[in-house]
Parts: sequence; C-alpha cells; structure tokens
Amino acid sequence: MKVKVAILGCSGRMGRNLIQAAIEHKSVELVGGSVRVGSSFENFDLGEIAGIGAIGQKTTTDYQELLAADVLIDFTSIEATLEHIEWCQQHNKALVIGTTGFSDQQVETLKVAGKNIPVILAPNTSVGVNLLFKLLEITAKAIGDYTDIEIFEAHHRFKKDAPSGTAVKMGQVIADTLGRDLNEVAVYGREGITEERSRETIGFATVRAGDIVGEHTAYFADIGERLELTHKASSRMTFALGAMRAAFWLSEAEPGFYDMQDVLGLKD
Ligand code: NAD
Repeated sequence: MKVKVAILGCSGRMGRNLIQAAIEHKSVELVGGSVRVGSSFENFDLGEIAGIGAIGQKTTTDYQELLAADVLIDFTSIEATLEHIEWCQQHNKALVIGTTGFSDQQVETLKVAGKNIPVILAPNTSVGVNLLFKLLEITAKAIGDYTDIEIFEAHHRFKKDAPSGTAVKMGQVIADTLGRDLNEVAVYGREGITEERSRETIGFATVRAGDIVGEHTAYFADIGERLELTHKASSRMTFALGAMRAAFWLSEAEPGFYDMQDVLGLKD
C-alpha cells in the first residue's frame, strides 16, 4: 500500500526535490503541498513548481487541505516547523522533519510532540550520511581519545546555519562514544581555532560557497597518520529520497521521537 504524503514548503530548494522524489517513489503517493502565506506559488501545480510539468495537485497555504495525507514532510524553517508540529498533533498526522538548526529547547518541544504522534527529526536524510554516523561511532571506539578530532563541512552560500546540523551530529556521535559531555565540544565555526583547543575538544571548520550541496569530513589525526571519513552529496535528490524512505517507515510507527538510525535499522 502507498503512503499518502504532503510536502510542506514545496517551493524551496528541498521542496522541489521532495515533490519529484514523491512522484518517483513507488511506495509513496503525493496528495498535496503547502507554501508560505503570501508566497507567489500559492495555488500553483506541484509539478510546475518542481519544473517537471503539471501533475494536477495544487499547493495551498491552508494546512486543512492536507488532511488527506498520512505523513507530512517538512524541510522549511525553524519557526514554520514549530507551527507545523502543533498542527500535526491537532490532526494526528505523522511528521518527518528535515529542517535544521533547532536549539536544545526547541528539540525538547519536538520530543514532547513525539508522545502524541510519530515524529522523525533527521538533520540529514541521506542514507550515506547516516552510515557515516555509525562508522564514526566504530572509529571513535577503536581509536579512543588519543588523536586530534576535527570536523570539516562545506555547503552552498545560502545555507543559514553553521556548522551544519550534520556536522554537529557527527561531533555528538563522537563525543558520546568517547564519554564526553556535548558541552565539552567546542564549536569554532568561523571564528577560527582558539588557544583553548586541545585534544579534549572537537573542532569544527565551515565553508559557505557557491552551490555546494553538502560535504562532511571527520579527521582522526595523529603524528604520522590520519584517517578521514568523508561524505559528499552531489544532488539534493539523495536527501529527498531518504525523506521518502523515512515517511514510509514512519507511517507504520507508533507515536514516538525517532531519527534516521531507526529508519535504517542501525541502532544496537
Ligand atoms: P529554502 O529556503 O530553499 O526553502 C525553505 C522553504 O520553506 C521556502 O520555500 C519557504 O518559503 C518555505 N516556508 C517557510 N515557512 C513556511 C511555512 N510556514 N509554510 C510553508 N512553507 C514555508 O531552504 P532549503 O535549502 O530547501 O532548506 C530547508 C531546510 O531544510 C533548512 O533548514 C535546511 O538546512 C534543511 N535541509 C535539510 C536536509 C536534510 O537532509 N535533512 C537537506 C537539505 C536541507
């Protein structure tokens, strides 16, 4: 049986790819989409927005029109997602969240919603990146606390948050594996490396340039050798297809707060 999905924020960079992925995915049926209030795309055909020709489904700024969906897919903004999750709870709809940059407090709000409806928070929906998280855990366990650990990420010039949600998650996986508190992870961002840097911390370096879809590397470096684990996304379709896989999985899940590791069966 196909899962009925609706795309929130479908005129965005990810939104357009999500429309295309929903049409192509054999387990998913696209039933509609929303745009921001005041958007020039209101009442446009979804296929026209995605640049793939008319498909006969309109966008709307009225979420009530999305009641036909079982799962909503949201790659929008923090403010919009926090509104969407309220709506999903009121109408008992599952929600896949791809939006990034939430504060700890905002994540708590999303977790509370997971008591009522199935929610996936996935700062990166690519299958490769989620395998990378697992490889980081295995690597950190084996290498231990004795190397310099640095994370590099690069994205397009329009990306709002830095370091990326994926880079922070990479740091978190390593920090958790090494038994450190996340607060001990230093986020250098664009401020450069400071004197406080030591092997106790994990440094982050960020590049924003052109149309880079997404690159992440973790360095485990010592004198004489270094191990680099890298993921490169060359198309946003990889995130969009991962989101469809997440939506399909979530349609059969009980209320709860999940991530892509659940979807891919990578949890111990
Ligand atoms: P974008 O700015 O191109 O698109 C965001 C869209 O959301 C815009 O079209 C905007 O009009 C729309 N929007 C805002 N408020 C809305 C509302 N209330 N209702 C409906 N639509 C609304 O940005 P993007 O590059 O597509 O990224 C969107 C988000 O997804 C960002 O947080 C980004 O970091 C994240 N992202 C996540 C992944 C992942 O794998 N999880 C991959 C890429 C991007």
